[in-house]
This record gives sequence, structure tokens and C-alpha cells, in this order.
Amino acid sequence: MRPDKKELLQMLSLEGEKELQELYRRAYAVKKEYVGTTVYFRGIIELSNICTKNCYYCGIRSGNPDFPRYTISLEDALAQAEWCYQKRYGSLVIQAGERADKAWIDLVSELLRGIKQLSNGELGITLSLGEQSLETYQRWFEAGAHRYLLRVETTNRTLYRELHPADHDFEKRRNCLALLRKAGYQVGTGVMVGLPGQTYEDIAEDILFFYDEDVDMLGMGPYIPHHSTPLAHLVEGFDKMQALTQGLKLIAACRIALKDVNIATTTALQALHPQGREMGLLAGANVLMPNITDTKYREGYQLYEGKPNLDENADESLESLAASIERVGESIGYGEWGDPKHFFRRQKSVAECRMNDE
Ligand code: SAH
Ligand code: SF4
Repeated sequence: MRPDKKELLQMLSLEGEKELQELYRRAYAVKKEYVGTTVYFRGIIELSNICTKNCYYCGIRSGNPDFPRYTISLEDALAQAEWCYQKRYGSLVIQAGERADKAWIDLVSELLRGIKQLSNGELGITLSLGEQSLETYQRWFEAGAHRYLLRVETTNRTLYRELHPADHDFEKRRNCLALLRKAGYQVGTGVMVGLPGQTYEDIAEDILFFYDEDVDMLGMGPYIPHHSTPLAHLVEGFDKMQALTQGLKLIAACRIALKDVNIATTTALQALHPQGREMGLLAGANVLMPNITDTKYREGYQLYEGKPNLDENADESLESLAASIERVGESIGYGEWGDPKHFFRRQKSVAECRMNDE
């Protein structure tokens, strides 16, 4: 059933510790019923900080000359994937700035084939590489990727225009979600919360958009200002705790409204609070993406201020992450893909429609 906008607004505007805890508890009960309490790990490789786009909120946008650009070599990226496989993470995510040139498309294709080969097809692969053509999406799907994350950032078209240069187009981005579905991917999207000028009404509309687009996965997080962006004036006076609460409320409202989708507890939450990701799990998220990028590249991938630079590939920090997840009563789905239940329900209803048509 399509979520009720009034009810969404009511959840999103809740304040007060007692009321918020009650909301998170409610979301957790829905999560338990629909997707269970197993957390799925997706090791994230930040493959390159080269980006052809210039989103005004992002630290690695093309217009920021302040830092060197990198692309991880195929060899290094495969070594990171191998590590991920050895640690029995079920899946990995490959994320980068947006590029659509042939050398890049070929590099990603080769990497995908290499990862499938080294893991005997066992590692699931999610891509987060921005807007591409149907042909490119198909090529990468055939090379082994099966999930794709493409946030629409905000569904408020005016706000979208204010936060991007004129040649960045919401409708084009939205259409990419359809292309991804056509290519066969499990499709994820999301927004940032706490954008300048964004209202609860906008966020309620974002959640209705997720429902209408029938997405399988969500990756959402608080907007965190970065000093070398056109929005640098927002760094001063940024309220971390408020941003954290907005992020958690959004996760909870999405879990209650959309029920069986996969929801990531994102690194941006961790940037705001050392236990931010665990809080996200308790508010309804069920996917966590430990950063497995070689630490020598980390400095170069600062999408926002204070992005954690922890060496999560160290056995020690992995152990402490596992322990803190278990402490909040969750278990880790080692070696499992943890595909979104919603995807299979969606497939089933498509098949049923086809049968009815025949
Ligand atoms: N280039 C690809 C993937 C990398 S960016 C893309 O844009 O799709 C991944 C996400 O980082 C973006 O979708 C955006 O939501 C998020 N992001 C960028 N700048 C941010 C900021 N200042 N605060 C929080 N999230 C940010
Ligand atoms: Fe590039 Fe993505 Fe940052 Fe936009 S959000 S500038 S597309 S890396």
C-alpha cells in the first residue's frame, strides 16, 4: 500500500528522546518481521576520485582543484577484492566519481570479470558509478555486477537545480533507474537529508518516490558540508547531532513505510558519531559497507568533511566492528549475498502478471 504522506510527515517531524526511541523501536520491529536481524556486509572500494561532474555539495567534484586525483590500479583493486573474499564478506561495492569514457568502462569491466574469477562467482557486486548509457549498464551487468546504487539526491526539482550546475538533470538521473532495471540490476537509490532549504515535506515526497519507483535498496545519509565546495559557508554552525537524528529518522520512516527493501547504514552516520552505523541498524537498516579501500587512497576520497579514515581492513578493527554489531543484538551474514527480499517479491509479481496475461 502506498505510504500515507501525513503519517510520513508525522514520523519525520518527531522530536524528543522518548518519541524518537519509540520510532526506532517501531522500525526495528518491522525490520525483524520483514527482513530479519542479520546484517550484510558489502566491502566498499573507492576506485577513483576522478569525476566529470560538479555537484555543489561534493568534496571531489571536478571544480575542486585542491587535491590530487587517483585511480586504483586493476591489480590493487583485485587485491582488495581478494581480501574481502577471504574475510567472507558476501559482497562488495565499487564506487567512484562519474566517468563515461571508454578506458574507464573497460577498466570496470575487466575488474568485474577479475572479481568473479577470483571468488568463483561467489562475491556479489554492487556498482555506484553514476549515470551511464543502457549499453554500459548492460556491459557491466554481463561482466558480473548485479546491483546498482544511484541516489537521486533530492526529488525536489528546485532544490536539485540549486545544488547542481545547469547540465545536471534530475529527469536524466531518474531515467537511469529505469535503464538499470531494464538491464536486470537490483536497483537502489536514495537522497541526502538536511540539505540547505530541504523541508520535511520534501523528504516525505522522497519516500513516496522510492515507493513509486519500486526500488529494491536504499542508501541515504545526512548531508555534511565540505569546506572546498560552493556550500562551504555551511561548515560553520553545522550541527552533527541534529544531522545524525535526521539520518536515523529517515531510515526508520523508510523501514516502516517500505518494509522489505535493503537499507544501508552509511558511513556519513559514522562520520557524525563513532557508533552512528550501529544506531542506523537499530533504526531499521540491514546493510553495512565497511570501507576496504587501501588506506593510502583514503585522503583523496573526501566527499564530505570528517569522513572517517579508519583502517577497516585491519583485522583488529574488523573484530571490533563485529563485536559492536553483536552487542546491539544483530548477527553478521558472512559469505551471504543478502539480496533485497523486495527484489524477489518484485520479480514474482512481474511473473504473475505475465502468467495472467497469457
Ligand atoms: N559519483 C557517483 C558515486 C559517488 S558519490 C554518484 O554521484 O552517484 C556517492 C554519494 O555521495 C552521492 O550520491 C551523494 O549522495 C553523496 N555525497 C556527496 N557529497 C556529500 C556530502 N557533502 N554529504 C553527504 N553525502 C554526500
Ligand atoms: Fe561526482 Fe558523485 Fe560527487 Fe557528484 S556526488 S561530484 S557525481 S562524485
